[in-house]
Amino acid sequence: MPRPEPAPLAALLLASLLAAGAAALGALLGGRRHAVAGRVLGWAGASAAGMMLGVGYASLTAGLASAPLAALLGAAAGVCVVRLLDGASPDAGGDRDAAAASAFHSAAEGVAIGAAAAFDARFGLFLVVTFAVHNVSEGALLGASLTAAGRSPRAAAGLALAARTAQPALAVATLLLARAVPAALPWLLGASFGALLYLIVAELLPQGYRQAGRTGIAVVFSVAAGVVALLGGRAQ
Ligand SMILES: [Zn+2]
Repeated sequence: MPRPEPAPLAALLLASLLAAGAAALGALLGGRRHAVAGRVLGWAGASAAGMMLGVGYASLTAGLASAPLAALLGAAAGVCVVRLLDGASPDAGGDRDAAAASAFHSAAEGVAIGAAAAFDARFGLFLVVTFAVHNVSEGALLGASLTAAGRSPRAAAGLALAARTAQPALAVATLLLARAVPAALPWLLGASFGALLYLIVAELLPQGYRQAGRTGIAVVFSVAAGVVALLGGRAQ
Protein backbone atom coordinates (compact mmCIF):
# COMPACT_ATOMS: atom_id res chain seq x y z
CA MET A 1 0.00 0.00 0.00
CA PRO A 2 1.44 3.46 -0.90
CA ARG A 3 2.35 5.80 1.94
CA PRO A 4 -0.41 8.34 2.69
CA GLU A 5 0.38 11.74 1.20
CA PRO A 6 -1.58 14.94 1.91
CA ALA A 7 -3.53 16.58 -0.91
CA PRO A 8 -2.23 19.84 -2.47
CA LEU A 9 -4.17 22.86 -1.20
CA ALA A 10 -5.16 24.23 -4.62
CA ALA A 11 -6.47 20.84 -5.78
CA LEU A 12 -8.54 20.48 -2.60
CA LEU A 13 -9.98 23.98 -3.02
CA LEU A 14 -10.92 23.43 -6.67
CA ALA A 15 -12.41 19.95 -6.12
CA SER A 16 -14.41 20.96 -3.05
CA LEU A 17 -15.74 24.07 -4.81
CA LEU A 18 -16.98 21.85 -7.66
CA ALA A 19 -18.59 19.52 -5.11
CA ALA A 20 -20.31 22.50 -3.46
CA GLY A 21 -21.67 23.46 -6.89
CA ALA A 22 -23.56 20.15 -6.98
CA ALA A 23 -25.84 21.58 -4.27
CA ALA A 24 -27.17 24.14 -6.76
CA LEU A 25 -28.04 21.35 -9.19
CA GLY A 26 -29.84 19.51 -6.39
CA ALA A 27 -31.74 22.65 -5.40
CA LEU A 28 -32.96 23.12 -9.00
CA LEU A 29 -34.18 19.51 -9.05
CA GLY A 30 -35.77 19.77 -5.59
CA GLY A 31 -37.43 23.05 -6.57
CA ARG A 32 -39.51 21.25 -9.22
CA ARG A 33 -41.86 19.54 -6.83
CA HIS A 34 -44.55 17.07 -7.86
CA ALA A 35 -46.87 14.55 -6.25
CA VAL A 36 -44.27 12.00 -5.07
CA ALA A 37 -41.73 14.62 -4.01
CA GLY A 38 -42.21 14.13 -0.26
CA ARG A 39 -41.25 10.46 -0.29
CA VAL A 40 -38.48 10.93 -2.87
CA LEU A 41 -37.03 13.79 -0.82
CA GLY A 42 -37.13 11.58 2.28
CA TRP A 43 -35.09 8.95 0.43
CA ALA A 44 -32.69 11.62 -0.84
CA GLY A 45 -32.19 12.76 2.77
CA ALA A 46 -31.67 9.18 3.96
CA SER A 47 -29.06 8.49 1.28
CA ALA A 48 -27.33 11.79 2.17
CA ALA A 49 -27.30 10.75 5.85
CA GLY A 50 -26.04 7.26 4.98
CA MET A 51 -23.19 8.74 2.95
CA MET A 52 -22.27 10.92 5.95
CA LEU A 53 -22.13 7.89 8.25
CA GLY A 54 -20.02 5.93 5.74
CA VAL A 55 -17.59 8.83 5.37
CA GLY A 56 -17.48 9.39 9.15
CA TYR A 57 -16.77 5.71 9.77
CA ALA A 58 -13.91 5.73 7.25
CA SER A 59 -12.47 8.90 8.86
CA LEU A 60 -12.69 7.44 12.36
CA THR A 61 -10.95 4.25 11.16
CA ALA A 62 -8.13 6.34 9.67
CA GLY A 63 -7.77 8.30 12.92
CA LEU A 64 -7.86 5.17 15.10
CA ALA A 65 -5.09 3.60 13.01
CA SER A 66 -2.71 6.49 13.73
CA ALA A 67 -3.62 7.53 17.31
CA PRO A 68 -6.52 5.59 18.94
CA LEU A 69 -7.01 7.72 22.08
CA ALA A 70 -6.80 11.06 20.25
CA ALA A 71 -9.29 9.86 17.61
CA LEU A 72 -11.77 8.65 20.25
CA LEU A 73 -11.48 11.84 22.30
CA GLY A 74 -11.79 13.82 19.07
CA ALA A 75 -15.02 11.96 18.23
CA ALA A 76 -16.50 12.88 21.63
CA ALA A 77 -15.34 16.48 21.19
CA GLY A 78 -16.90 16.60 17.70
CA VAL A 79 -20.32 15.59 19.09
CA CYS A 80 -20.06 18.13 21.95
CA VAL A 81 -18.90 21.06 19.79
CA VAL A 82 -21.61 20.55 17.16
CA ARG A 83 -24.25 20.09 19.89
CA LEU A 84 -23.17 23.33 21.59
CA LEU A 85 -23.09 25.33 18.35
CA ASP A 86 -26.38 23.80 17.21
CA GLY A 87 -28.02 24.67 20.54
CA ALA A 88 -26.75 28.24 20.34
CA SER A 89 -28.24 28.90 16.87
CA PRO A 90 -31.89 30.00 16.47
CA ASP A 91 -34.41 27.27 15.68
CA ALA A 92 -34.91 26.60 11.97
CA GLY A 93 -38.12 28.20 10.82
CA GLY A 94 -37.88 30.67 7.95
CA ASP A 95 -35.95 30.09 4.73
CA ARG A 96 -33.03 32.18 6.00
CA ASP A 97 -32.75 29.76 8.93
CA ALA A 98 -32.87 26.76 6.57
CA ALA A 99 -29.94 28.20 4.57
CA ALA A 100 -28.03 29.04 7.77
CA ALA A 101 -28.59 25.50 9.08
CA SER A 102 -27.29 24.17 5.75
CA ALA A 103 -24.16 26.37 6.04
CA PHE A 104 -23.54 25.13 9.60
CA HIS A 105 -24.01 21.51 8.51
CA SER A 106 -21.69 22.08 5.51
CA ALA A 107 -19.00 23.56 7.78
CA ALA A 108 -18.84 20.30 9.77
CA GLU A 109 -18.57 18.38 6.49
CA GLY A 110 -15.80 20.75 5.36
CA VAL A 111 -13.78 19.77 8.44
CA ALA A 112 -14.23 16.11 7.48
CA ILE A 113 -13.06 16.79 3.90
CA GLY A 114 -10.04 18.79 5.08
CA ALA A 115 -9.00 16.18 7.64
CA ALA A 116 -9.28 13.40 5.05
CA ALA A 117 -7.25 15.42 2.53
CA ALA A 118 -4.57 16.06 5.18
CA PHE A 119 -4.46 12.32 5.90
CA ASP A 120 -4.14 11.26 2.26
CA ALA A 121 -4.92 12.83 -1.13
CA ARG A 122 -6.73 9.75 -2.43
CA PHE A 123 -8.89 9.51 0.69
CA GLY A 124 -9.58 13.25 0.46
CA LEU A 125 -10.68 12.85 -3.15
CA PHE A 126 -12.99 10.02 -2.10
CA LEU A 127 -14.66 12.32 0.43
CA VAL A 128 -14.99 15.15 -2.10
CA VAL A 129 -16.68 12.86 -4.64
CA THR A 130 -18.98 11.36 -1.99
CA PHE A 131 -19.95 14.81 -0.75
CA ALA A 132 -20.59 16.00 -4.32
CA VAL A 133 -23.26 13.26 -4.66
CA HIS A 134 -24.45 13.99 -1.13
CA ASN A 135 -24.75 17.72 -1.94
CA VAL A 136 -27.18 16.95 -4.78
CA SER A 137 -29.44 15.12 -2.29
CA GLU A 138 -29.21 17.79 0.38
CA GLY A 139 -29.46 20.59 -2.17
CA ALA A 140 -32.75 19.02 -3.31
CA LEU A 141 -34.09 19.07 0.26
CA LEU A 142 -33.11 22.70 0.73
CA GLY A 143 -34.40 23.66 -2.74
CA ALA A 144 -37.77 22.07 -1.99
CA SER A 145 -38.12 23.87 1.35
CA LEU A 146 -37.03 27.24 -0.10
CA THR A 147 -39.37 27.07 -3.08
CA ALA A 148 -42.20 25.97 -0.76
CA ALA A 149 -41.48 29.16 1.20
CA GLY A 150 -41.95 31.22 -1.97
CA ARG A 151 -38.44 31.50 -3.43
CA SER A 152 -37.88 31.01 -7.15
CA PRO A 153 -35.94 27.83 -8.09
CA ARG A 154 -33.01 29.98 -9.26
CA ALA A 155 -32.88 31.94 -6.01
CA ALA A 156 -33.09 28.65 -4.09
CA ALA A 157 -30.18 27.26 -6.13
CA GLY A 158 -28.13 30.39 -5.40
CA LEU A 159 -28.82 30.15 -1.66
CA ALA A 160 -28.05 26.42 -1.62
CA LEU A 161 -24.73 27.09 -3.35
CA ALA A 162 -23.86 29.97 -1.01
CA ALA A 163 -24.60 27.81 2.05
CA ARG A 164 -22.41 24.97 0.71
CA THR A 165 -19.37 27.24 0.25
CA ALA A 166 -18.79 26.54 3.97
CA GLN A 167 -17.55 23.10 2.80
CA PRO A 168 -14.54 24.30 0.71
CA ALA A 169 -13.80 27.10 3.20
CA LEU A 170 -13.58 24.76 6.20
CA ALA A 171 -11.86 22.03 4.15
CA VAL A 172 -9.01 24.41 3.26
CA ALA A 173 -8.79 25.80 6.83
CA THR A 174 -8.65 22.25 8.26
CA LEU A 175 -5.94 21.15 5.80
CA LEU A 176 -3.87 24.22 6.75
CA LEU A 177 -4.36 23.49 10.47
CA ALA A 178 -3.35 19.85 10.08
CA ARG A 179 -0.26 20.89 8.13
CA ALA A 180 0.75 23.39 10.82
CA VAL A 181 -0.04 21.03 13.74
CA PRO A 182 0.32 17.40 12.55
CA ALA A 183 -0.61 16.07 16.03
CA ALA A 184 -4.12 17.55 15.51
CA LEU A 185 -4.88 15.22 12.59
CA PRO A 186 -6.20 12.16 14.52
CA TRP A 187 -8.33 14.54 16.62
CA LEU A 188 -9.75 16.10 13.46
CA LEU A 189 -10.46 12.69 11.88
CA GLY A 190 -12.25 11.59 15.06
CA ALA A 191 -14.10 14.90 15.39
CA SER A 192 -15.36 14.50 11.79
CA PHE A 193 -17.05 11.25 12.77
CA GLY A 194 -18.59 12.77 15.92
CA ALA A 195 -19.86 15.86 14.13
CA LEU A 196 -21.36 13.92 11.20
CA LEU A 197 -22.98 11.41 13.55
CA TYR A 198 -24.63 14.20 15.53
CA LEU A 199 -26.02 15.84 12.39
CA ILE A 200 -27.39 12.51 11.11
CA VAL A 201 -29.20 11.67 14.34
CA ALA A 202 -30.38 15.16 15.29
CA GLU A 203 -31.19 16.60 11.91
CA LEU A 204 -31.43 14.30 8.89
CA LEU A 205 -33.08 11.11 10.14
CA PRO A 206 -36.02 12.75 11.99
CA GLN A 207 -36.75 14.83 8.87
CA GLY A 208 -36.61 11.69 6.69
CA TYR A 209 -38.99 9.72 8.95
CA ARG A 210 -41.61 12.44 8.55
CA GLN A 211 -41.27 12.39 4.76
CA ALA A 212 -40.97 8.71 3.87
CA GLY A 213 -41.66 6.49 6.93
CA ARG A 214 -39.18 4.56 9.04
CA THR A 215 -38.70 1.38 7.01
CA GLY A 216 -37.86 3.07 3.71
CA ILE A 217 -35.52 5.50 5.46
CA ALA A 218 -33.78 2.71 7.40
CA VAL A 219 -33.16 0.66 4.23
CA VAL A 220 -31.87 3.57 2.09
CA PHE A 221 -29.75 4.92 4.97
CA SER A 222 -28.16 1.54 5.73
CA VAL A 223 -27.37 0.71 2.11
CA ALA A 224 -25.81 4.15 1.48
CA ALA A 225 -23.77 3.96 4.71
CA GLY A 226 -22.57 0.43 3.95
CA VAL A 227 -21.53 1.17 0.37
CA VAL A 228 -19.66 4.37 1.32
CA ALA A 229 -17.95 2.79 4.36
CA LEU A 230 -16.78 -0.11 2.17
CA LEU A 231 -15.47 2.16 -0.60
CA GLY A 232 -13.95 4.53 1.97
CA GLY A 233 -11.98 1.71 3.57
CA ARG A 234 -10.53 0.83 0.16
CA ALA A 235 -9.69 4.46 -0.63
CA GLN A 236 -7.47 4.83 2.46
ZN1 LIG B 1 -24.69 16.84 4.72
